[in-house]
Amino acid sequence: MKKAEYKKNSYYLEMLDFFSENSDDCFFIIEIEENKIYFSKNIDKKYPFLNIRHKVCELSLIKQKIYARDIETFDNELNKIMKKESDVYDITFRIVNNNNKIIWVNSHGKAQYDKNGNPCRIIGRLSEKLGKYRVDALTGAFNVPQLIDDASELCKTNGVAYLLAMGIDDMKHINIKDGREYGNNLLVKIVKTFENVARKYEHRVYRINGDCFAVMLHNIDKSGVEKIYNNICKKFKHICSFSGGAVEYNSNITTDGNTMYQCVEIALDEAKKHGKSHLRFFKEKDYKNKISIVELQDNLKHSISQGFKDFSLNYQPQIDLKNQKLYGAEVLLRYDDPKRGNVPPTEFIPILEQTDMICEVGTWVLKTAIKQCKIWREKIPDFHISVNLSYSQLKQPNIVDIVLNSLEEQGMKGEALTLEVTESMELHDYHKLNSIFSRWKQEGIEISVDDFGTGYSSLNRLQKLDVDEIKIDRCFITEIQNSMYNYQLVNNVITLADNGNMRVCCEGVETEDELAVLQKLAPKLLQGYLFGKPYSTEEFEKRYINSNEIPRLICENIDNKLDSIIHDIHKTREQQLEEILDSLDECICVSDMKTYDVYYINKTCLKIFGIEKYDGKKCYQLLQRKNAPCELCKKWDLQENKQIYLNIYNEYLKTNITVKDKIIDWNGKKARLQIISIPE
Ligand code: C2E
Ligand code: MG
Ligand code: MG
Repeated sequence: MKKAEYKKNSYYLEMLDFFSENSDDCFFIIEIEENKIYFSKNIDKKYPFLNIRHKVCELSLIKQKIYARDIETFDNELNKIMKKESDVYDITFRIVNNNNKIIWVNSHGKAQYDKNGNPCRIIGRLSEKLGKYRVDALTGAFNVPQLIDDASELCKTNGVAYLLAMGIDDMKHINIKDGREYGNNLLVKIVKTFENVARKYEHRVYRINGDCFAVMLHNIDKSGVEKIYNNICKKFKHICSFSGGAVEYNSNITTDGNTMYQCVEIALDEAKKHGKSHLRFFKEKDYKNKISIVELQDNLKHSISQGFKDFSLNYQPQIDLKNQKLYGAEVLLRYDDPKRGNVPPTEFIPILEQTDMICEVGTWVLKTAIKQCKIWREKIPDFHISVNLSYSQLKQPNIVDIVLNSLEEQGMKGEALTLEVTESMELHDYHKLNSIFSRWKQEGIEISVDDFGTGYSSLNRLQKLDVDEIKIDRCFITEIQNSMYNYQLVNNVITLADNGNMRVCCEGVETEDELAVLQKLAPKLLQGYLFGKPYSTEEFEKRYINSNEIPRLICENIDNKLDSIIHDIHKTREQQLEEILDSLDECICVSDMKTYDVYYINKTCLKIFGIEKYDGKKCYQLLQRKNAPCELCKKWDLQENKQIYLNIYNEYLKTNITVKDKIIDWNGKKARLQIISIPE
C-alpha cells in the first residue's frame, strides 16, 4: 500500500471508543493489508482473556481464541469479502476464555475499498446479543445459541434426553453437481424430515452449521436414537448419506449446555473421521481438552522449580538518536514450553503475574541481566540495560532491597540499570511509589514509564511520578508520518519531558519514514526492528558488542516530508471518518456547534429519519423536524464542553430517543458529533 493512501486509524478508533461507551458491543477495524485488528477501548473489559495489548493485535491472535470448529466458518466469511463476493459478513461463532469457557458471539461488519476497488478495511462489531439471530433464515430451524440455551435448561432439570447431530456427507459435491438452489432445497427438506421423524418425542431441530443439523430428543433411549438416525438416512438414501453423533444427557459429563454441544460435535467428528455414513455415540475418552492454561501454568511452575529451565532472555538494542550509537538494551523474557514450543510473552507473562510467579521469575531476570550487563560493560563501559518490572513485583515489601542486592552481588553501579514500569491503574499510590523510586535513584538507578500513551497513562499522572524516562508505546510510532494525532502526542510528550528533565524513548520504530519524523521531534532514544530485533545473548553479543551493526540512518528533506503529510491528513481525515460512520448501525450526525449547520449524516441516520439531502440544513430541522433550535441544542449551549446524554421526544419518529454528544474537530472547525439511539 502506498504511504499516502494509508492513514493510521487512531482518530477513527477514538470515535469507535465513543460508540462503545454507548453500547455493550465492542467495535473494531480490521486493516487488511496489516492483517491487524484494532478494537474499541472496552475490549479489555469485555474480553480480558484475549490479552489484547493496546487494543490492537494480529488477526491471527484472535483466531487462536476462536473455538477450533468455528475457524473455518470464520475464514469462509472473511474470504467472501476478500474475493469481493460480498461487502458484508455476519458470523456467529465461539471464543474460548482462559478457563476454557465458551462464549458465543455474533459479529457483523462491512468492507471498505481502496482506490482500485479492493477491500482494504473492515469495520465491524462483536456482540453477545444474539437474540435476533435465533432462527436460521433458510430452513427455519433454531440455531446454535438457542441449542446451547435449551441444553443448559435441560441440565438444570433431571431430564432424560439425547442430543443427536447429523451432517450431510459431501454436501460440497451436491452443491457443485446439482447447483446451490438444489442444495438449499435439500436442507429445507431435511429439517422437515427431522421434524416428522422426531414427532413422537418432545423435540427441537437446530441447524448447527452449513450442512449439519441437530435434534434434541426427550424421553428416549439409545435404540430410539438409532432408529431416528436410520430412519432419516433411509429417506435420503438416493440423495446423500449422513454421519451422526449423539450424546446422552448425563449429569456427570454434560454438566452444561456448552459441554453437551461440544460432546456431540466430538462424536460427529469421530464419525466423519472414521469413514462417515454411520452413527457414533459420545465416549468420554474422546474428550481431549485443548491445551489449557492450567497446563501452561503447571509447566511454568515446573520450569521455575528446575532453576528457570526453559526461560531465557532476549536483548533488543536501544539507540541514542543524536550520535546513532548503541545506548543499551531492553531485556525481554522468553519461555520455551516443553510441549508447545515458544510461547509469546503476552500469553505467559499474564499467567506469571496472576499467580505471583512473576516475582520469582522477575528477580531471576534482574540478576541474569545485571550479570550479563557487567560482562558487556567490559567492552562498552557505558552500556545500559532496561528491565521490565511488573506491578506484582513492585508490591513486594522487600522490592527495594531485591533490586539493590542484585546490583551489589555483581558489584555493579545503579547507573547501568533502568527499571521499566507500565503505567497502569494500579500505580496510584504515588507517595509510596516515589519513596521506592527515590531510594533507587540514590543509587543511580533510573525509572522508565513503559507503554506510555496506552491504558491509564496520562501526562497529568506522569507529573506526579518521579521518573527519568517516558517510553512511548509503539502504537503511536507506527505510521507516525501519516497520523497527525500521533505526531502531536509524541511532540507534546517530548516537550513535557524536556521541561521536566526526562528523556523519551520511542519504541517500535520500524521504517525509515517513521525515523524521519522522529528525527525532527528528537527523542533521546529509539528502539525498534529498524535498528534490531530482540536477540539471544550470543546473537546480541555478536552483532552489537563485538561489532557495531547499527545502520547509520540520516533522513534528508524532513521538512518537505512533514508538510505533505500534515496537508494530506487534513484533506482526507473527515472523508475517511465518513466511510467508517457510514458502516455503523448507529445514527450519527455531525453539525456545527454554533450555527447548527449539518456537516454530515451517516447512512443509517438518513434511512431512519427519512432524510434525502442534508446540505444547507440545520440539525434541528432534520432530526427534530423543528424550525428553531431544540431542547438539545439549547442544552448544548449551556454546557459548552461537556458531554451530553439526553432522552428527548422525537417528532418525526414519534418516540423518545437518546442522544449522546461529543465535540470533535471537523475540517478545522469545532463540531458536535451526535449518536442517536432509538429504543427497539
Ligand atoms: P514491552 O516492555 O513494551 O517490550 C517491547 C515489546 O515490543 C517487545 O515485545 C518487543 O519485542 C516488541 N518490539 C520492539 N520493537 C518492535 C518493533 O519495531 N515492532 C514490533 N512489532 N514490535 C517491537 P515482547 O518481547 O513480545 O514483549 C512483550 C511484553 O512482555 C513487553 O512489552 C513487556 O511488557 C512484557 N515483558 C517482556 N519481558 C518481561 C520481563 O522480563 N518482565 C516483565 N514483567 N514483563 C516482560
Ligand atoms: Mg518494556
Ligand atoms: Mg513497551
